[in-house]
Amino acid sequence: MARVYNWQLGREMSYWYPESRPKRQFAAVFDTNKCIACQTCTLACKTTWTSGKGQEYMLWNNVESKPYGSYPLAYDVKVLEMLNSGKWTGKVYDGETIFESAPAGERVLGWRPEQQDYAYPNCGEDDCAGQVDQGAAMMALPHMSWFFYLARICNHCTYPACLASCPRGSIYKRPEDGIVLVDQGRCRGYQECVKGCPYKKVFFNPMTGTSEKCIACYPKIEEGIQPQCFTNCIGKIRMAGWISKQQDAKPDNPIDYLVHIRKIALPLFPQYGLEPNVYYIPPIHVPLSFSRQLFGPGADEAVKAYRNAMNDPDLAALLCLFGSSEKMMPRWKRNGDDVYGMDDKGATVVKVPRNEPVIVRPAYDQLYQITRTNCP
Ligand code: SF4
Ligand code: SF4
Repeated sequence: MARVYNWQLGREMSYWYPESRPKRQFAAVFDTNKCIACQTCTLACKTTWTSGKGQEYMLWNNVESKPYGSYPLAYDVKVLEMLNSGKWTGKVYDGETIFESAPAGERVLGWRPEQQDYAYPNCGEDDCAGQVDQGAAMMALPHMSWFFYLARICNHCTYPACLASCPRGSIYKRPEDGIVLVDQGRCRGYQECVKGCPYKKVFFNPMTGTSEKCIACYPKIEEGIQPQCFTNCIGKIRMAGWISKQQDAKPDNPIDYLVHIRKIALPLFPQYGLEPNVYYIPPIHVPLSFSRQLFGPGADEAVKAYRNAMNDPDLAALLCLFGSSEKMMPRWKRNGDDVYGMDDKGATVVKVPRNEPVIVRPAYDQLYQITRTNCP
């Protein structure tokens, strides 16, 4: 095994291939505080990529209610239990990754879901944690009972477990953008990738006999447009872009700013060791012990920063850019009360006011002598 650096663990780790970072890495930030679980993203993906035979059960994008929701069933707790993870010293992970704890003769610590595990995509939806007996929770504040929505796609990991697991070398990471793809011509359907990916974002197609996965809508990305699940997002929770190495973070790159500089967006289960490239702004109303398990030790600071966003003009402005254009916006800037999303060359893609003007129209319009609302 090679020794590679994983900045999310704050240390080197063992991986099956030497460190080889793409020219630029596709990445995304999801703001969990804004997601309403409308599943428009899920359907936008489904109707675009997985409406064929053999793909019925595939959800390249899914949205699950935490703490009880999961697709496939218990995909997260199963790996957490097997890994016996959770040991952090400050920002350094002292436990083993799924590569370091692989059983003898295997490349990754993993498990393959049964058909039954894919049968309940809505399991746990809107179920809340905490006491609800006799309404006790309703009387106690703040937030004894809680849940939140976790939207998930493939993380286009820097150290993909799917790629490491494949005995045929059918999975590759594109050098130009870091998107992870399955070569359908090489794949023989061994499903080692399905077993290896701890996020369970590779799916076996029994009709073609090959594995398939989220392709980050690369034909759109190549045209400078964000993926389908981003541009259709009702809650405007998503922003796609490019992430730099930690030491090269640029403040005018929105993803770098949120992930590396402000550290408000965090990876999902960083302890697995894959350096996933979808980053989450954690929910602010959830017990921090739970958020730390999902998003690592940065959860406390991220929640604090998000709560303070209203007093933080740059952060508040950048959050307004989410969902404001279908185009990729690799650069941004704030000017007074306006925030600009820009292309690579600095040309404006979109301008958004940080504070939407509130216009109150009188119920009765004197000029036209009409009533403009039903309830004046
Ligand atoms: S479309 Fe956006 S708001 Fe709706 S479920 Fe998907 S991520 Fe959440
Ligand atoms: S999330 Fe899973 S399928 Fe996607 S790149 Fe990482 S290991 Fe591969």
